[in-house]
Amino acid sequence: MAFSKLVKPESAELLHLTVLRTEKLSAHWIRVTLGGGEVEKFRPMGFDQWFRLFLPIGGDAGLDRVPAKANRMFGYLKFLRIPDGERPVMRNYSVRAYRSAEGERGAEIDVDFVLHGSAADGTAGPASRWAETCAPGEHVLIIDEGLTFNPERGTDRVLLVGDETALPAISSIAASIPSTATGTAIIEVPSEEDALAFPHPEGLTVEWIVRPHDEQPGALALRRLAELELPAAPFHAYAAGEQSLASGVRKHLVGERGVDKNAVSFCGYWKIGAASPASKAARDVAAEPLR
Ligand SMILES: Cc1cc2nc3c(=O)[nH]c(=O)nc-3n(C[C@H](O)[C@H](O)[C@H](O)COP(=O)(O)OP(=O)(O)OC[C@H]3O[C@@H](n4cnc5c(N)ncnc54)[C@H](O)[C@@H]3O)c2cc1C
Repeated sequence: MAFSKLVKPESAELLHLTVLRTEKLSAHWIRVTLGGGEVEKFRPMGFDQWFRLFLPIGGDAGLDRVPAKANRMFGYLKFLRIPDGERPVMRNYSVRAYRSAEGERGAEIDVDFVLHGSAADGTAGPASRWAETCAPGEHVLIIDEGLTFNPERGTDRVLLVGDETALPAISSIAASIPSTATGTAIIEVPSEEDALAFPHPEGLTVEWIVRPHDEQPGALALRRLAELELPAAPFHAYAAGEQSLASGVRKHLVGERGVDKNAVSFCGYWKIGAASPASKAARDVAAEPLR
């Protein structure tokens, strides 16, 4: 998917938010609900809306030093000048759900974190570790990045493919498309209990794939796609998750099934063996997620 097809957010300013609560949803899922601070300035867009998240690994002092536009070239260079140990960790996450303010309660944003690796042997990433251990009252910053899912107006047939990291985005897309939409979602998860059910249009068939431990993330979803009968054209495809799954879906659809490349939105959400943003993306100033 070309960058030009991204749907930009209304505002890309830094927003200060607070952890309101956390909830362990399953073996590999924890939900962190953010609010307070400047949440009223956040503009929900539905679909796969995502944002840069700055985590206070080095304490609040580091958060105070994050420059405006830290998601763009010059801002990111300034961000990198924050000393190691104080510099917040920047990662990408999706808006799983947004609730506007009601009565006494302020607006809230749910963020679902995949718990991966193990803290004990140091393979858990800092964001995964943070989500597991953060406490209400902790501060974070976000910068809204808008949407990757960007079908032609009026397209109501979809094909959604992802691993567990794309489940929040796919759930939110399913809540945002018309209730008359049809199609298929293929979602690969690390265990049966991680297959978090979500409301979706009746005409959207959701296929869960539980990945055995020794299987490479994304491989089974790709294999399933290869044998899937595609929705009738025109439809819009969305692929996200481990880099080779996202790019593999696009390659398969465009190269082997003749799908128009403009009808495929895809985004590498993470890469096996590489911390996010991948070092190349970081060198390229981390202005965009992996692609
Ligand atoms: C647009 C966008 C939206 C995203 N939305 C979400 C979301 O809503 N929820 C979510 O959980 N993730 C989401 N991700 C993916 C998330 O940003 C990455 O998984 C990120 O690498 C996690 O950061 P970390 O600090 O935990 O691990 P890192 O420090 O980035 O990586 C450390 C090690 O862990 C490995 N690793 C990273 N992620 C995973 C994983 N999921 N499973 C197994 N190994 C992993 C890496 O390969 C590396 O070896 C999204 C990514 C993008 C680009």
